[in-house]
Amino acid sequence: MVAEHQGIGMTSRRTRMRLIQRLRESGISDTHVLNAMEEIPRHIFLDEALSHRAYEDTALPIGYSQTLSQPYIVARMTEVLMSHQPARVLELGTGSGYQTAILAKLCKDVYSVERIKALQDRARDRLRTLGLRNVMLRLADRGMGWPDKGPFDGIIVTAAPKELPEELMMQLAEGGVMVIPVGEASQMLTQVVRRGEAFEITDIEPVRFVPLLAGVVR
Ligand code: SAH
Repeated sequence: MVAEHQGIGMTSRRTRMRLIQRLRESGISDTHVLNAMEEIPRHIFLDEALSHRAYEDTALPIGYSQTLSQPYIVARMTEVLMSHQPARVLELGTGSGYQTAILAKLCKDVYSVERIKALQDRARDRLRTLGLRNVMLRLADRGMGWPDKGPFDGIIVTAAPKELPEELMMQLAEGGVMVIPVGEASQMLTQVVRRGEAFEITDIEPVRFVPLLAGVVR
């Protein structure tokens, strides 16, 4: 059991249940995904000043011009990913570590890459507090993704490139799935499934993410 923050304990449990109900009503039906989101407290992934808003279905700032995605989007992306039952998953954009924690509950091994050192440090502390040990974190210092640890059964990208990055697609295992927002002014959440040297590409829904960028911020 993870100790809840003082004072927010019961309230958080109840408001979290309300959020899960709302996700169900929005069409999220994978019970494993809903259970994982019920188990992982979202408020510990936010600064104290914002933690009271943690169970609203909205994106929230985490500093460095980055955002913790809206719960509905986290649920939707995870649901699409998990429909392929990946064991080894790569995440691009650790950010707060919230999506990482959800994945750690659902997958065997999670490899997560972040380019902003300060965000990665905080995420590492939170994941440790939650006792999640099947997560490996890496700073995005060279190239994209984590080719040394690939190929991956699943890849989830929480920042948007202008176009589908071939470098990442090549890190997908045969039959593997990638869930990724693509575009600039308007973005489309996209599913990519690898079939040999070919890729099946399916649009999911319009989304709005921060841009995928190169280089590390230390
Ligand atoms: N999944 C995060 C969302 C954070 S926002 C969460 O739940 O909080 C997207 C994150 O992607 C930011 O932290 C940003 O720094 C990171 N990012 C952007 N480009 C990246 C890249 N090329 N490699 C790794 N991370 C990247």
